[in-house]
Amino acid sequence: MKSSHGMNALPARADAPVVEPEVAALYVHIPWCLSKCPYCDFNSHAARTWPEAEYADALLRELRHRSAEEGFAGRRFSTVFFGGGTPSLFDPRTIGRILEGVARGPDLDPAAEITLEANPGTVTEERLRGFRSAGVNRLSYGVQSFQPDLLLALGRRHSVEDSRRALDAARLAGFDNLSLDLIFAIPGQSLAACEADVDEAISHGTAHVSAYALTFEPGTAFHRERAAGRVRQAPEELEVAMFELVRGRLRDAGLEPYEISNFARPGLEARHNQAYWRGTPYVGIGAGAHSFAPLDGRGGGGDACFGRRWENVRDPGRWMDAVRERGTGIADTEALGRREAMGETCWLALRESRGLDPTAFRLRFGEEFAEAFPHATSLVSDGLAAWRGDRLVLTPRGLLLADAVFSTFF
Ligand code: SF4
Repeated sequence: MKSSHGMNALPARADAPVVEPEVAALYVHIPWCLSKCPYCDFNSHAARTWPEAEYADALLRELRHRSAEEGFAGRRFSTVFFGGGTPSLFDPRTIGRILEGVARGPDLDPAAEITLEANPGTVTEERLRGFRSAGVNRLSYGVQSFQPDLLLALGRRHSVEDSRRALDAARLAGFDNLSLDLIFAIPGQSLAACEADVDEAISHGTAHVSAYALTFEPGTAFHRERAAGRVRQAPEELEVAMFELVRGRLRDAGLEPYEISNFARPGLEARHNQAYWRGTPYVGIGAGAHSFAPLDGRGGGGDACFGRRWENVRDPGRWMDAVRERGTGIADTEALGRREAMGETCWLALRESRGLDPTAFRLRFGEEFAEAFPHATSLVSDGLAAWRGDRLVLTPRGLLLADAVFSTFF
């Protein structure tokens, strides 16, 4: 990934804007959950109490520090995403204080999309009203399934009734931009149970659904259980059938598949996720958060740098100590060479249904897409990708083999 494969590290054309020049996305990581789900590999820590005020202070300190750096300075945030962990465990007043800090500086677009991830078991209508008045305008519920036995299998703490109540309460509290997460290919799940989950998700009239196949990530309890033969992964044919069912049902209901796992009513796509896929700079604050800044290839002596990535210290206590000492909790920084940035731009663009635009590629890198990645021709002849107008998109077969397609750009 780091090699330039014999290409010169040419600077991009001087007139080529990297991305929209003034905008950035902000990710705020809240690392605590009431318990750890057995499939979860996020930076989440089971806890009954957490140092909320101190953590919020550290978030704002790190924000001030990071947003003054190259790649972020002078940009205003057009999206804010509170992810976790379980951000809905925080008091709405704390979320309000963080958002006030963002608005005071660097800058927050008055029309920003502000999302809070919420666990259905942690909200009441009153708390949701609090989040709404704090400035949150989009909720993302970790529903996962509407079947009690499958919630149990996933180790979720909330019940089906909690989810139904939480969805109703969100509307009463004034949230009309609602998203819910579903998981499919859960051990023991039938195609009919998957269908029932999608149908119930549709019946709630949500604007957005994210639907992911369960994965067994190294380091998780499910990964160990599978290795020990105590959990059985869904057969591949069943997973494929569920993927197709989910896509078809949601599309028929007016929720367009605008990305491999994401579906939305027109105009209600998650702008924050689009920022990730489109190479917009993002600042991640909090324990284990990631940041990214695309650069134009002309920076910093020596090798041309086309982007920089940062990863924060994962442990919440150590991250807060680092912010107190240095203003930021960065653990690791990585520079993106030209070839790596080119590949990443391609596979991220192919995640979206709108696909890859070769003109934007040329403007960014000063080279034709077809010359940089001549193997795209065989992706097309193998039926994995196709030209739709002047954009390259994944075919239905390419969607099923997306990871293999993406790996050809590394
Ligand atoms: S609630 Fe979400 S973040 Fe927390 S442990 Fe479960 S899957 Fe992970």
